[in-house]
Amino acid sequence: MDTRQKLEILADAAKYDASCASSGSKQTRRGSQIGSTEGMGICHSYTPDGRCVSLLKILLTNYCIFDCTFCVNRVSSDTPRARFSVDEVVQLTLQFYKRNYIEGLFLSSGIIQNADYTMQQLTMVAKKLRSEHQYGGYIHLKTIPGCSDELIHEAGRWADRLSVNIELPTQNDLKQLAPEKDSTQIVTAMDTVKTRIDETKADKKQGFKAPSYAPAGQSTQLIVGATETPDATILQTVTSLYQDQRLRRVYYSAYSPIPHADARLPGMAPPLVREHRLYQADWLLRFYGFSADELFSPQQQNLPLDIDPKLAWTLANRDRFPVDINRADREMLLRIPGIGSRSVGRILQIRKHRSLSVADLKKLRVAWKRAAPFVITTDANPSLKLLDSLQLKQKTSTERQLSLFDAIDSARSGEV
Ligand code: SF4
Repeated sequence: MDTRQKLEILADAAKYDASCASSGSKQTRRGSQIGSTEGMGICHSYTPDGRCVSLLKILLTNYCIFDCTFCVNRVSSDTPRARFSVDEVVQLTLQFYKRNYIEGLFLSSGIIQNADYTMQQLTMVAKKLRSEHQYGGYIHLKTIPGCSDELIHEAGRWADRLSVNIELPTQNDLKQLAPEKDSTQIVTAMDTVKTRIDETKADKKQGFKAPSYAPAGQSTQLIVGATETPDATILQTVTSLYQDQRLRRVYYSAYSPIPHADARLPGMAPPLVREHRLYQADWLLRFYGFSADELFSPQQQNLPLDIDPKLAWTLANRDRFPVDINRADREMLLRIPGIGSRSVGRILQIRKHRSLSVADLKKLRVAWKRAAPFVITTDANPSLKLLDSLQLKQKTSTERQLSLFDAIDSARSGEV
């Protein structure tokens, strides 16, 4: 099999790994003749300084000794198989890089022989690129749970980011669908990465010249909708990952039915909007001071699909509104629908000098239709009378077909 054929198989197999900002793209628009939005091959991610980088996203191999039911690469699947050698991935990366097609590499793999052997192969790609070819581009390596700490230490020396996939939100889900995967091993691998990142930072703080270690941090991916586990449980798991492992990102990937799937798997993919709501809720946890528990009630353990989670929280907590834009603390300002964290920063700055009116908020480009019933300003705000209205949900919800704007949102949230 030539390299091009391998590339076709192994770039396609990598599309299930939602670890880049453009991973979620599903298809090119109907009727278009130019442009591609394939979630495979070359994907995009964002560096901490906001640059968009294109990544060659491939698997080293889609052979795998494991039999995770939800995965097209499981050992019992009859999918076409291929395997790159370390040198082939190195050469592909360099050639694509020199032609200016990519600025980085995202490399994952099925498990071959054992965790150590697979991790060694992945690490060797990064090491060769860095030490033999002085390649300075971005490298994201998938970490194989169960491999030795030494290999994880080595991988982080050469990679910018490491990620260990948690795959499913609970140990029970893993037991059902991926019995060979062990959540303890997954968390231990994440711990090892975190500890090493912390040690490197501490050494640098003390003035030692420590070699850099996974400077873009670590991330993970989990599949949504392969089991009945509700969003509340998913976000509780995610909260502990952010707190305990200090992950930079969690990627949510809606389960997509695979050929000859196991009978325990659902026949249909969950609505894509569920994945979108989880990303919005994730954003609320990380930047808006929400906790996972606040977003759910005992009766409602999934995020609503018809409105975004912030508006849903506001509607369930109307007694905490209206909020005086000129007096409220940052935490409460962040909870007003239609006002983002950047606008809150500007409001707090302007407030030091003068009070804000409706016109000021509009100038700050807050989503006024959404925010209006919830805020008190210096001048009259006729929309306040809507706060107790039964139609408040309809009046404030601006749900529209997921489109260009959502792509922009997810691109923004796709920082490396
Ligand atoms: S270990 Fe990874 S590649 Fe292998 S079957 Fe499980 S999910 Fe798929």
